[in-house]
Amino acid sequence: MHELAITQSILDIAENAAREHGVKKVREVRIKIGDYSGVVPQCIQYYFDLISKGTVAEGAKLKMEKLPILMRCEECGWQGEVDKHHIECPACGGIRLRLLQGREFYVESLEVD
Ligand SMILES: [Zn+2]
Repeated sequence: MHELAITQSILDIAENAAREHGVKKVREVRIKIGDYSGVVPQCIQYYFDLISKGTVAEGAKLKMEKLPILMRCEECGWQGEVDKHHIECPACGGIRLRLLQGREFYVESLEVD
């Protein structure tokens, strides 16, 4: 995924929400990032600082929380957290795993003045 495009969509969400609710300043944006989404949190804050200049979200802090990768084994039915560098079922060693969570990326909430 392209970090700049992602950051732009975060800013769009923040600006739209601010306009809708008559908010003058967005102080914090809470974001959930799946560990399997490939998004680099450090890049997002960097880009956000650049493109938010002059908007209601200028200077806002991005609070990013990682969502662990959850998978289910199609072989034995095991379900749980999986290391992204070692994707296999810890119960039976199977590799037919289905992703239940981990690819998400979304704005959860905003803190505003
Ligand atoms: Zn299994």
